[in-house]
Amino acid sequence: MTEGGNALKAGFISLGCAKNLVDTEVMLGLLARRRIEITDDPGEADIIIVNTCSFIDAAKEESIATILQAADYKRNGNCRALIVAGCLGQRYRQELLDELPEVDAIVGTGAWDRINEAIDAALAGRRTVIAGDSEAIYDHDMPRLVTTPPYSSYVKIAEGCSNCCSYCVIPLVRGKFRSRPIESVVSEVERLVAGGAKEISLIAQDTTSYGRDLYGTPRLADLLRALVKVEGLVWLRLLYCYPRYFSDELIGLIAAEPKICKYVDLPLQHAHDDILAAMNRRDSRADSERLLAKIRAAIPGVAIRTTFIVGFPGETDEHFAALRDFVASQRFDHVGVFAYSQEDDTVAGRRADQVAEDVKQERYHALMALQAKISEEIGAAHVGRELTVLVEGVEEDGVARGRSYREAPDVDGRVYVENAAAGPGEFVRARVVQGFAYDLLAERIEEEKK
Ligand code: SF4
Repeated sequence: MTEGGNALKAGFISLGCAKNLVDTEVMLGLLARRRIEITDDPGEADIIIVNTCSFIDAAKEESIATILQAADYKRNGNCRALIVAGCLGQRYRQELLDELPEVDAIVGTGAWDRINEAIDAALAGRRTVIAGDSEAIYDHDMPRLVTTPPYSSYVKIAEGCSNCCSYCVIPLVRGKFRSRPIESVVSEVERLVAGGAKEISLIAQDTTSYGRDLYGTPRLADLLRALVKVEGLVWLRLLYCYPRYFSDELIGLIAAEPKICKYVDLPLQHAHDDILAAMNRRDSRADSERLLAKIRAAIPGVAIRTTFIVGFPGETDEHFAALRDFVASQRFDHVGVFAYSQEDDTVAGRRADQVAEDVKQERYHALMALQAKISEEIGAAHVGRELTVLVEGVEEDGVARGRSYREAPDVDGRVYVENAAAGPGEFVRARVVQGFAYDLLAERIEEEKK
């Protein structure tokens, strides 16, 4: 698309989670399809799109700060259209446009496929909000410009969530749970693998609910069976699983299929039944303990990631002590901890018994410190172990940086490999020589080309 014979240029800033990143990549594809040039230099961009997050307060603040920074380019750059997409846009719509005169258009989470319409309106000087109920989900026919390294891609298998945890705004900003057809996901994975992807991370708000809406029954295991047949795919990784729907069939398949990473991402959020009930979570502590024991028994060497919220309204010292005890006894490989964020349009956000900020921070640091010690011990216990490492880059000192099956992209630690003699996208075999809280140091033992 040109103006006065010059190609229009667009810059993108993608905030938040991997699911939002996939939306960014689809919007990039839609712009590229009409020959809008994508630039990394916001200073030369005619159009700047900020794909926002509004999950918790900190994410909202970061989104607003990023929008205001981008607005500077309307004064000191070429920017003539500043567009806000994603969850913050969906959640606050007209209110956001009214409060931020610098912004020319808002595109909601269900309207990413109308991004070009928003660009046309903004360039024509019409400030607009394009945000309906979030019902859309992309499919394999959509143009998508993958921004992650070619050897590793995310694939969104479903959108939205119907679990309605009492603290969470996602059902509000992303709508009801809706799966993509198995054929659509398989086609996309085939295309990505043909383009060089060796690792595919399957994502959704709740991957384990896959198919329940579309097929009337969970079909994640069937989807995985179809995907492991894709020639050239090396690692298939599952992220964002919901404990209630983590079936024995799924456990068996992960254990049996060499291509499926022995990695389980299972946000549990808490471990005291009073708090779990108040969060509207469907699993008790005992349910989680049973599930974790089953997973560990069936999948030797499995790496387990989880997340917890501290400072949920009404959380007492006794509730928090139960959570600490659970973390100490379960010894997870990776743990993310969030201090509860009071979201005004949620059930929990309207509770009167909010926990004081300093107490939240105290509990946050206490749980992080406990987990750091556990991670260090787990790291040390890996010394001598052999791992296959996907190289992601090489440090200045020549040491390769990568991940094994135990580390997901962007959220977990790294495996550093000495004498790797390999570049990004290559797999090497390595033996761990030192373990740290979050990373491992290894030395290459033999090349495993795949
Ligand atoms: S399962 Fe996750 S995305 Fe869904 S409502 Fe609960 S916390 Fe939010």
